[in-house]
Amino acid sequence: MSVTAIVGAQWGDEGKGKIVDLLATQADMVIRYQGGNNAGHTIVNPLGEFKMHLVPSGIFNPNVTSVIGSGVVVDPGGLLKEIDDLKKAGVSVDNLKISDRAHVVMPYHALFDRLEEASAGAGKLGTTQKGIGPVYGDKATKIGIQMGDLLDEKFMIERVSSIVEKKNKILAALYNHPSLSAHSIIEEALDYGRKLKRHIVDTQPMIYGAIKEDRKILLEGQLGALRDLDWGIYPYTTSSSPIAGGACTGAGIPPREIDEVVGVVKAYSTCVGEGPMVTELKDEVGKLLREKGGEYGATTGRPRRCGWFDAVATRYSAQLNGFTSMAVMKLDVLDTLPAIKICVAYHDGDVTYTTFPRTRILERAMPAYEEMPGWQEPTTKIRSYGKLPARAKAYLARMEELVESKISIISVGPGRDETIFV
Ligand code: GDP
Repeated sequence: MSVTAIVGAQWGDEGKGKIVDLLATQADMVIRYQGGNNAGHTIVNPLGEFKMHLVPSGIFNPNVTSVIGSGVVVDPGGLLKEIDDLKKAGVSVDNLKISDRAHVVMPYHALFDRLEEASAGAGKLGTTQKGIGPVYGDKATKIGIQMGDLLDEKFMIERVSSIVEKKNKILAALYNHPSLSAHSIIEEALDYGRKLKRHIVDTQPMIYGAIKEDRKILLEGQLGALRDLDWGIYPYTTSSSPIAGGACTGAGIPPREIDEVVGVVKAYSTCVGEGPMVTELKDEVGKLLREKGGEYGATTGRPRRCGWFDAVATRYSAQLNGFTSMAVMKLDVLDTLPAIKICVAYHDGDVTYTTFPRTRILERAMPAYEEMPGWQEPTTKIRSYGKLPARAKAYLARMEELVESKISIISVGPGRDETIFV
């Protein structure tokens, strides 16, 4: 493996952080390629338990260069806090690089996110209100600020003054909101620039050099394929592209240089926020999955919606991403269940879908399940595939068949060692 993309196969929170942290012990570079600090990974390793939001999960390996790619949107205040927390825990951030082309989440982005969600009423999208949608919006309409801009005082004064003037007009007209002070926004941004200066670089030559030297590079995504702006459950999506294609643009890696795509798949389904989730369980089983799996958001603490494994959605994700293999996470959470269901199709009235339809159809769709017997034995201490209960192996084999991808890693607990390599 030279370049491996680690992608979320479902709605996010699959456990990508654990896999990147684990594989980073063998890597030279980890590049985070999209998203902002609106979601996070929880990582448990010998240094402790960490909630990561922007810093790539390779930071715990001192030999790894950790890169925040140009496709990421950076809240500089949030990033500084994360850096501070890591330092306090004894983790060095000397090898952290931030692309000078990554966009900056400005204070007005979070404000607009809050105001838009508050005014949307029943139509709210369930955003984390961290300004991620608005900053990608400004990027697309070419009024964004890049990290490199924070180091250019003259440019910042001119640019931010004119942006804030326009934002103030919208604030007054749409939300009856008092004006923002361009001066204080500029001062704050320049201060962030000074504090982050030593990390802000042109990452492209460095990444190209690493590819040429055949270094081991991991591409780290955030969220999952079903939140992809193009292919996810629009509009309940994120504003960037978590799929492997997005890794190319967001990191600056040519598509033909990606050797492996590992789809990180939870052994059941979880989804945080709004949008259709066909296999959602509002019963005792859903509650058990939530409690046993600790299914509460790493960034927001929001309870996650839980349900059975959705093979239709995951196969769609495998096809979009081009999985070379899957890492199946949290198998241990299913250990006590007497029976386990897998969604193999959706019904919408008389129509049956085995492909993943548009949001409007998903909202009406009912799941068609296959049921398998549970193994009802603990798996957390198992370290080899052969020692897994036969019924757990049958469940995994059925996942492989339905998703049409082989499994390379099985995770049976949050720790690095609680892992089976197949
Ligand atoms: P990510 O954003 O995809 O990395 O996912 P999160 O970090 O939000 O959620 C994964 C959570 O599950 C974290 O708290 C992990 O420590 C935990 N976790 C990861 N793998 C396993 C596993 O195999 N079993 C259990 N029980 N927990 C796991």
